[in-house]
Amino acid sequence: MSENQTFSSFGLHESLMRAISEMGYETPTPIQIQAIPLVLAGNDVMGAAQTGTGKTASFGLPLLERLIPTANSSMSPARHPVRALILTPTRELADQVHENLQAYAKYTGLRTACVFGGVDIHTQQDALRRGVEVLVATPGRLLDHVEQRNTVLNQVQIVVLDEADRMLDMGFLPDISKILKLLPEKRQSLMFSATFSPEIKSLAANFLRNPQLVEVARENSTAKTITQKLFEVHNSEKVDALLDLLDDEVCEDAKNILVFVNSKIVCRRLARTLSQYGIEADSIHGDKTQDERIKTLEGFKQGTIKVLVATDVAARGLDIADLPVVINFDVPFNAEDYVHRIGRTGRAGMKGLALTLMCPGADEKNVAAIESLIKEHFKRVRMDVSPHRRPSRGPRKVYTPPPVTPACTDPFFDEPYVPSQPQEISEAIEKPLGLGAKDTKKKPKVAALLGGLIRR
Ligand code: AMP
Repeated sequence: MSENQTFSSFGLHESLMRAISEMGYETPTPIQIQAIPLVLAGNDVMGAAQTGTGKTASFGLPLLERLIPTANSSMSPARHPVRALILTPTRELADQVHENLQAYAKYTGLRTACVFGGVDIHTQQDALRRGVEVLVATPGRLLDHVEQRNTVLNQVQIVVLDEADRMLDMGFLPDISKILKLLPEKRQSLMFSATFSPEIKSLAANFLRNPQLVEVARENSTAKTITQKLFEVHNSEKVDALLDLLDDEVCEDAKNILVFVNSKIVCRRLARTLSQYGIEADSIHGDKTQDERIKTLEGFKQGTIKVLVATDVAARGLDIADLPVVINFDVPFNAEDYVHRIGRTGRAGMKGLALTLMCPGADEKNVAAIESLIKEHFKRVRMDVSPHRRPSRGPRKVYTPPPVTPACTDPFFDEPYVPSQPQEISEAIEKPLGLGAKDTKKKPKVAALLGGLIRR
């Protein structure tokens, strides 16, 4: 297959070609060059590709092409059964995949819908009951709809498991098995995964028939356009170190910065701490409702939120154009997550910067695993962290108990209820992040430390 291939060489329907042209796609990506003809020919496909490679169109375009003959304008729901089912691990990915499929299907007459948990089920119910040919879903919510008889899956011709590795990590295997049992035996099955663990191989063996393998951008590769830097800091200095990095000119000029952490709790606290320092920051993690996530993402894309603190699961599948800087506040436990994280920057040939804070000792093993995966050795730079003064929150209110009347035997029961002061709560919350009250001194610019940072 030629690298100079064009979309017109796939022989796609004119309605799809029109949508592709409106999306601004000029040439197919490597995964599209490999996968589109195989899916068009009706093969089962195992794709080794991650988000950001153009994977959605690699299955979405041929899938729609195969369904175009069934498109119709009937009002009857029976004429619009689910014919293609795409399962994704997260709400964000479901939303993003659906957004793309909706755009590709715009002129085909095929109906699309997306269902995921964490939002009101009734609004999704109406769309399903009217009938849709292409359904994007997270497994749990799809089963809820099936149980409520909002949809049936017995006419599915094509099923896609997207980010299958993440689905297994998130414990969706039982739900996936239940869903697969509801599908017709005779169907086309596609599976995409960034990694190939024994569990993925066994799922593929059960799920796919004589699959064709397509593979692009190996998991251990990081784009050449990304400059990677590693800073050694003590755990108690991490917040100050992050503030120093954010103060640097490169970060100051950046519209969007994504900061990765390893847990939901640190995610919430760090975003709150940054906000207290006057930085437009918010968090995205698994405990947020879908509405909150959508609002946060919109704010980030529009630039009203400059720094987004994220966990790996929540950030999966986020497609944010022009992300110049990614910071690993925590070294990821899994080396492959490092590749995913920093792959959020330096996309489509643009320059990107990936900065990682590492605690010598504690993070050594995980950093070594990353180095061995990406086959690069990081130069460890000891960061001279400038202490930041804790944000002022106004004078502390001191509670003075009212005078005890002589009739009172237990003063406790006579005292009015006084709620905790908000600043006391946030102090208690911040402590584990190592924010000590420190004096302000003029911070040295870290640009020298970062030496050779990209100016945009
Ligand atoms: P995906 O890996 O499917 O999440 O796609 C990542 C991004 O690349 C999305 O914003 C797509 O709209 C975009 N994209 C996919 N295929 C192409 C293409 N052939 N040319 C330009 N952009 C593309």
